[in-house]
Amino acid sequence: LVRLRGIRKRFGSHEVLRGVDLDVQPGEVMCLIGASGSGKSTLLRCVNHLETPDSGRVVVDGDLVGYTERDGKLYELPERQIRAQRARIGMVFQHFHLFPHLTALENVREAPMRVHRHSKATATATALDLLDRVGLAAKADAYPRHLSGGQQQRVAIARGLAMRPQLMLFDEPTSALDPELVGEVLDVMRDLAAQGMTMIVVTHEMGFAREVASQVAFMSDGQIVERGTPADVLGRPAHERTRSFLSKVL
Ligand code: ATP
Ligand code: MG
Repeated sequence: LVRLRGIRKRFGSHEVLRGVDLDVQPGEVMCLIGASGSGKSTLLRCVNHLETPDSGRVVVDGDLVGYTERDGKLYELPERQIRAQRARIGMVFQHFHLFPHLTALENVREAPMRVHRHSKATATATALDLLDRVGLAAKADAYPRHLSGGQQQRVAIARGLAMRPQLMLFDEPTSALDPELVGEVLDVMRDLAAQGMTMIVVTHEMGFAREVASQVAFMSDGQIVERGTPADVLGRPAHERTRSFLSKVL
């Protein structure tokens, strides 16, 4: 479903991504791990063109993301088409980015109404279903400031699902949460994985990676140093850099 080839990105003189290849099959959960600054967020943002790679290709479900190709050259797509591609990819950030002036329900139904022009009734019914799925049916009318961090993040996941994405991207969705709230968010993600959602998850939750990931990729210094099953990468890392990282986080 996702194919990254030769992704490079530099900010000024710092080359943050140095030729990344990555494949994620439909229904797989890819966990990206690695030290702070290794380029995980930048790579994730390249997948939905929030960040434009300097070179390389991002293909999601057979479509080149952000560009069209003519005579071997890439031309950036018009903003409207990029938005349409992005609508098929849900993204959940570390800080939930909910609209503070909208209730949980309004946050979830906002994009389907605005982008897909769904009627209020249809969008509301879908949003209530999704809030139920993340265990928050009772909080539909609550504003973000009245929700715990874990609840806000679950609303953010429901909102990410509202556009019926074929792919969900998670960037450290639990790292801003108090420890006792981490579990409820991981449970929702685990359910989503069990239902067959394709997911790329940047996380420091090694327990989650071990249990849920189809593949784990370890990033260091803008490259994927090692990838494989969680049992291999986390249990029998082949590279010294992976071992050294794991010894710090496990
Ligand atoms: P963390 O675990 O701390 O979230 P990360 O692996 O997600 O780290 P990135 O956020 O991808 O790392 O950042 C990789 C490098 O790129 C860092 O050195 C960062 O300072 C730099 N960087 C990221 N975004 C920008 C930007 N918009 N402008 C300049 N430098 C940036
Ligand atoms: Mg990051």
